[in-house]
Amino acid sequence: MIHYKELGLVNTRELFKKAMQGGYAIPAFNFNNLEQLQAIIVASVETKSPVILQVSKGARQYANQILLQYMAQGAVEVAKQMGCAIPIVLHLDHGDSFDLVKSCIGTGFSSVMIDGSHLPYEENIKLTRQVVDFSHRYAVSVEGELGVLAGVEDDVSSEQSHYTKPEEVEDFVKRTGVDSLAISIGTSHGAYKFKVKPGESPPPLRFDILDEVERRISGFPIVLHGASSIPQKIVDEINKYGGKLEDTAGVSEDQLRRAAKSGVCKINIDSDGRLAVTGAIRKVFYEKPGEFDPRKYLGPARDALIELYKHKIINVLGSNGKA
Ligand SMILES: [Zn+2]
Repeated sequence: MIHYKELGLVNTRELFKKAMQGGYAIPAFNFNNLEQLQAIIVASVETKSPVILQVSKGARQYANQILLQYMAQGAVEVAKQMGCAIPIVLHLDHGDSFDLVKSCIGTGFSSVMIDGSHLPYEENIKLTRQVVDFSHRYAVSVEGELGVLAGVEDDVSSEQSHYTKPEEVEDFVKRTGVDSLAISIGTSHGAYKFKVKPGESPPPLRFDILDEVERRISGFPIVLHGASSIPQKIVDEINKYGGKLEDTAGVSEDQLRRAAKSGVCKINIDSDGRLAVTGAIRKVFYEKPGEFDPRKYLGPARDALIELYKHKIINVLGSNGKA
């Protein structure tokens, strides 16, 4: 077993406290490969932002758990070498069992999510409590979830969204002992969040639910999943260079900015990064069909990611300069 402190990582506790006081949110970017990790570190260090490296169960299987552990450690060292030792969290996204959490903590994760949101309420509490009791022994922070997001992301999928019931949050937080809570207020997983025609806007987030949750658990860190904005510019680029994405829309960045200023301390962004990578690679393949050096298309993909992450950090989350 390796403890995350040996890798130079931190848990989310201090980061969320500061984010709450400062009215900003910490970015949680998903990664499965080298270029994504490089982009996250470069963007975060250059903007002096704390960052949460997020790994799903599927990503862990894809990338190999041992390799991931050393990649996270490498990220810490690279940040130092770049002249700004930003706080870095290694977080399990949508943990679905106690055994998975245990295994992640044994390979250097400093934070875990246990997602019992699809379970009946009492079972969600039981599973979450079990994970909290174990994780806190190792000073690993735990994110729970109440309410279900619509959409598809790796192993998580639901056709319909079920908004968080504000009357449950106090009881859930108290009885589970979680450090943060993911809620459902209308964000959604995946690239196809809202089926809208070009020019139409997606339904707004339910800020009334967020306000009521915050009133009931004032000062407690809230997490938003499925918070990609699905930039039309990138969707158009993908389709221009041979892709075939359908009409789609994401969560507007104005609304995310508003959420980041409130009790929302962590905002998850995955799909926007996937789209940026796809657009950049398609462009190279379209313009230079003779290209066969992966660095010549993964490099531009990495550059596109750096630009995207910096934009999110500075213009949406407001976590720049907070490292
Ligand atoms: Zn999620």
